[in-house]
Amino acid sequence: MKTDLKQLSKAELTGFMEHSGQPPYRVNQIIKWIYKKTAASFDKMTDLSKDFREELKAIAVISNLSLLQRQVSEDGTQKFLFELKDGETIESVLMPNSKGRERFTLCISSQAGCATGCKFCMTGRLGLKRNLKASEIVDQVITVKRHIETWVHGPEASITNIVFMGMGEPLNNFNEVVRSLRNITGLMGFSKRRITVSTAGIVPGIRKLAYTGPDVNLAVSLNAATDRIRDEIMPVNKKYPLNKLIKACKEFPLSPNRRITFEYVMLGGINDSTADADRLVKLLSGIKSKVNLIPYNPLHKSIEFNPPLENKILRFQKTLRKAGLTVIIRKSKGSDISAACGQLKASYS
Ligand code: SAH
Ligand code: SF4
Repeated sequence: MKTDLKQLSKAELTGFMEHSGQPPYRVNQIIKWIYKKTAASFDKMTDLSKDFREELKAIAVISNLSLLQRQVSEDGTQKFLFELKDGETIESVLMPNSKGRERFTLCISSQAGCATGCKFCMTGRLGLKRNLKASEIVDQVITVKRHIETWVHGPEASITNIVFMGMGEPLNNFNEVVRSLRNITGLMGFSKRRITVSTAGIVPGIRKLAYTGPDVNLAVSLNAATDRIRDEIMPVNKKYPLNKLIKACKEFPLSPNRRITFEYVMLGGINDSTADADRLVKLLSGIKSKVNLIPYNPLHKSIEFNPPLENKILRFQKTLRKAGLTVIIRKSKGSDISAACGQLKASYS
């Protein structure tokens, strides 16, 4: 089988080139073409000799995602539907940063579907189709980068932040996610400070990330401040209850000026009371944190949950702020094209 170059680390790529009798400088040339210039094939690598390109084609491939659909929301959010080699589909979401239209945050997927089964999330309803390979994770970044730089916004446009908040639970696909992180940072040159991995609370994964993974930002989808409520809306809580999760967060080593982000999806009448806010304050005491309140985005035909009332959201925020927490209310982006948090299902619409 031919080697997929996007799947290789720098050390592996170096070994691969050595093994094929190529001089070491070829490694950086290839890296530049794949990660900086987003070349989709060997033929695009015009400063490599024709003979070398043919040699490469015989033993290696540059894998690519195929773009099935791109939708643009009224608010400028774009959703990309990709097909993988085996026909599975995934989505990535590109959001313009408020500062300017040519700076973007890219939300990427780590799995096709998700096994975690959170009750409020569309991806959870799909169940897990399969883990993504590192190359498929990295390629979401490369493809969208190519898209905005060459086709839409010009060479000035750039992705400034990457969040693993699309489809899937990244820490349930630990090895491939870490491999992708190493390539996005080490080969593409993306800053670790500008990457966030979000988890539903897979405790062993959080610990492993702390000690073996690259030093990226951690976000935890807390969504409830009692085990009773969390058990109900996030089955993963039965395995990793709040005391274990909070302990792992307290022990997560944070570089200076870093904090753990706690996401809290507000479900009307379920977890949005002032008593819930008080409990959240207690839970987070002693953790360098910031809280993102995400008003529930209704799922297609869902009648299970209601969005919270505006005054409840504001009161909740006020309670947290009074206690000294940093809180933002994350307005949902792209809900008109089902690109908002929890709405990704990777099918045509
Ligand atoms: N699996 C990871 C990352 C992807 S989910 C995780 O759960 O953290 C990204 C975020 O969307 C999570 O914080 C999740 O709680 C939130 N979310 C899921 N469904 C939602 C919905 N219907 N409305 C608002 N936020 C939702
Ligand atoms: Fe999976 Fe995250 Fe959705 Fe839960 S919220 S089902 S962990 S993608």
